This record gives sequence, C-alpha cells and structure tokens, in this order.
Amino acid sequence: MIPRTTRAQRLAMPLARDVVRDLAAEHGGCVRPVQLRRTDLGTGHVEQVLVPCGHTLATVCPSCAERAKTLRAAQCREGWHLDTEPVITPDPSDDVQRMWVEHRAETQQHRDQADAAGHDTAELDELNAELDEEISRSGIRGNVLPNQMARRHRSTRRRQDAPDLPRRPVAPRTIGKTYTAPDGATFRPSMFLTLTCDSYGKVGADGTPADSDAYDYQRAARDALHFAALFDRLIQNLRRFVGYDLQYFAAVEPQKRLAPHMHVAIRGTVSRAELRQVLAATYHQVWWPPADEIRHDDAHLPVWHEASGRYLDPVTGGFLPTWDDALDAIGDDDEPLHVARFGPRFDAQGVLAGSRDSARCIGYLTKYLTKQIAECHQAHTDAQAAHAGRLADALRYEPCSPTCANWLRYGVQPKNPREGMRPGRCTGKAHRREYLGYAGRRVLVSRKWSGKTLADHRADRKAWLLETLGITDPDPARYSWEPVTPGDLDHMPPAQRLLHVVADRQRWHAALTLARARASGQDATPNLSATGRAA
Ligand SMILES: [Zn+2]
Ligand SMILES: [Zn+2]
Repeated sequence: MIPRTTRAQRLAMPLARDVVRDLAAEHGGCVRPVQLRRTDLGTGHVEQVLVPCGHTLATVCPSCAERAKTLRAAQCREGWHLDTEPVITPDPSDDVQRMWVEHRAETQQHRDQADAAGHDTAELDELNAELDEEISRSGIRGNVLPNQMARRHRSTRRRQDAPDLPRRPVAPRTIGKTYTAPDGATFRPSMFLTLTCDSYGKVGADGTPADSDAYDYQRAARDALHFAALFDRLIQNLRRFVGYDLQYFAAVEPQKRLAPHMHVAIRGTVSRAELRQVLAATYHQVWWPPADEIRHDDAHLPVWHEASGRYLDPVTGGFLPTWDDALDAIGDDDEPLHVARFGPRFDAQGVLAGSRDSARCIGYLTKYLTKQIAECHQAHTDAQAAHAGRLADALRYEPCSPTCANWLRYGVQPKNPREGMRPGRCTGKAHRREYLGYAGRRVLVSRKWSGKTLADHRADRKAWLLETLGITDPDPARYSWEPVTPGDLDHMPPAQRLLHVVADRQRWHAALTLARARASGQDATPNLSATGRAA
C-alpha cells in the first residue's frame, strides 16, 4: 500500500511524465517523436517506428537540437578545406521521402476539389505547407509545386544599381588557391569572416544605446528584415570579384545590441583589402512603396470590400492602390524605401585545415544554433528589456514583405489581400519578438559546400552506427511507411511514445558500449554502469 502523504510532500514529488521526458533527453532520445507505421511488404508484419522530431531548438527538443548542431559542425568541417570539387548528383528518393510526397499529392487533390466546390481551403493549404516542410526535412530538394504564379516584371528599371567593382567572369571551380612554402609543403588556406550591420547609434558594453532617442530603431529594423538579401548580394559580388564559384557556410545570430551579425566560413581566401572594397560596394536596395507616412492609423483602417476582394479607403470610399499599382507609381526620381549595407567593421582571418583555429571557428559558427535568435542574449537589466521593447515596437508596423498587413497603414493594399488583415497583427515571423526582425534561415550553406545535404551527413552517421553495431541496413524496398494519426487504433499518445524512446535508447546505449568494448579488444562482458541500467 502507498503510504499517506501531505499535499506539500506530494507537490515536492517529481511528476512522472517529467521524469520520463528528462530520462529520454538524458539518453539523447527525442522528446516529441513522430509515430510511423512500417509494413514489411514480404511478410505483412506491421511495426511501429518512432522517428525523431528533428527540431533544431533546444527548448523544444534538446536531443534533436544537439544532434542537428553536431551535424552542422560536421557539414561545416567537411566543406571548409575541401581540395577536390564536390560531385553533385541527386540520389534516388527513399521510401520515407516517397511516402511524404504521396501524402502531399493526396492533400493537393483534396484541396483542389474543395476549391472547385467553393469551399474554404485554408486548413488544407496549411496541411500542404506542413507536408512541404516534412518533404524538405526528409531530404528532398526543391518544391513539389513550384510557384507558378505569373511573376510580374514590373519596375525592372528599378533593379539594383551595379556595384562599383571590377567584374571577372565566374569560372565553375569552387576550390581556393594552393600555396607552396619554400620547403615544398603545400597549403590551402580558407577564411573565417565576421560581418556586422552598421551603427544605429552609440551603444554601451551591455548592448543598450547611450541615448535611446538618438538610436535609429527604424533603420535597425529594416536592416534586420533585409539582412538575408544583403548577404546574397555580397556573395554574388564576391563571386564576380574573385572569378570563381566561391562557397560558404554562414550562421546568423544577434549581437548584444540585438542587430544580426554573421559568421561565415569561406573556402579559399580573399585579402582584407579586397574584402573591404567588396563590402563597401555592396548594398541592397529595397524598391517598395513609401512606408514613412501613416495614412490609416488603427482608428481609421481601410475597409474590406467583399464583392471586389479589395480594400477601400474609409474616408473617400475609393479602392486602395494594389501592390502592383503602388510599385508602378515609384518614379525615376524616387528613392528606394531602404538601402541595406553591412557596417564598415568586419573581421577576417585565414584558417588552415585541421588547425585549432579551425575547430574554434566551427565552435563559433554552431554556438547559438540550438537557440532562438532572441534567446541568445536574454535581457538581464531594465535597460536591456527597454531596448528589446523599442526594437519590437519598430518592427511591429514595419512591412516585412509585399503580403504584409502593415501596408494598409501606409495606404497600400498588400499583395494577395484577404479579409481581416490588420496592421500590427501581421503573422510574418519577422515581427515576432523572438526573431528580432530576421526571419531567414539561421544557417546558410552554398550548394557546393560539402557536396552533401544534412540528410547525407545524417546518413553517414547512421552508417557508422550500423557498422559499429555490426547490423546490416535492411533493404528499404521491403517496407511501406505511413504516418499514424490520433484517430488510428494503433496510435500511441505522446507519453507512451516517450516510454518507448527511453527503452529504445537504453538498448542502443548498451549495444553500442558492448560493440565498442569488443572493437577495442577489451573484455566483451557488458559493463553497463555508464548507462545506469541494463535493458
Ligand atoms: Zn526531437
Ligand atoms: Zn509583416
């Protein structure tokens, strides 16, 4: 019989489900596994397989985030000092990849049927978007449905001004130069580069402005929103400048002042003087309609007109200019809405393959990958919290994209308008506090970096594990896979899945320890004290 306890005693007891979650994480197991049903096509035998969620944030799943970070470090290391051109040929798709694409095909059909019948397709669109994510996550490149919306080639005269740089034809090579020392030794240095945004006003050691009224929050917000585009432009300029297909592995993270900055591993080297020249000539012009004058504040918002699917001016009753109209109205004498540039300060150092510097730089590059942008620098003082708050305020009404609801505030109908759009309530990631205006990917890797995708690096790791354990990978053509959904009889609730994860991980640990002991010629009797208990 369980002895009686007081309420305080009971509250002090750990919650069973927390213990299971902690145990799963402690053993390196995923804490939110996805359940798949695997059928052996030969025997008809059905098995439940738990696949790791693959999340990259430690707050969501510490084990998957740590694994993702390790993979990123491996990817960075493999590509940095490559001395032969990577071979890029697509692999045949595997069963899991085909399964997701088949599901995507099915929901697309449902969606199109619903659309034809005049039903709302929002939920199916959402489901499609989720499936697209799964498809990408399973290691498939590109989209199943390329965006076929007729792109309007408006404002082509508004394209970016050509940078003031010498231009060389770009050769298809991706590898940097080799140098030969007087003693005949050859080496091929690579580069580690740190880029920052411009100054928006003087800041102290805690990252907060000396004078918050003089700090240019609007420019800080706009630079953050267009940071990814600016980086693309830099790479384009660098490639033309050096004359070869320069490759990079870059990680974006915030500085203490909450402006994005970037660590970049580059294969090959560029001199500091040349870098300075390219950085000074690199900028990204944002040719969007003006957004500096508030035409419709929250009390006088444009009104949705159901019949035309457009927004009306609440005072005149006329249509708001559409996105395309507003772009067309940008005249020859107008200025771009924003010009993003990197700050004049940068850091560049040469790095040799396998050196301690190389390992240290890879550490920098992957340091914050398991955290949300805003989590990298938590506010510890009132000044820091106020600074973060003012940046969030500036981002709240800044248009994040052509489809942003904030355009209504500036008298322009957003692209693809819908009913119920409200300035300040745009759901774009860039406005959310945790993104600090940068909604792009945290790791940007050029296509010919290591010649491998993250899925390839994952497969390398799996192959190593299987070899260590002396297991042969079963023939993938033998199985069919299906996701298990909550309505299914064999669906396992999350708590039950976690118990399975803990049990699986324990078995793996034990088997791995045994295999390692065997490989090193030690006593093959399993000593499982390292994992705490035997399976
Ligand atoms: Zn996970
Ligand atoms: Zn937005």
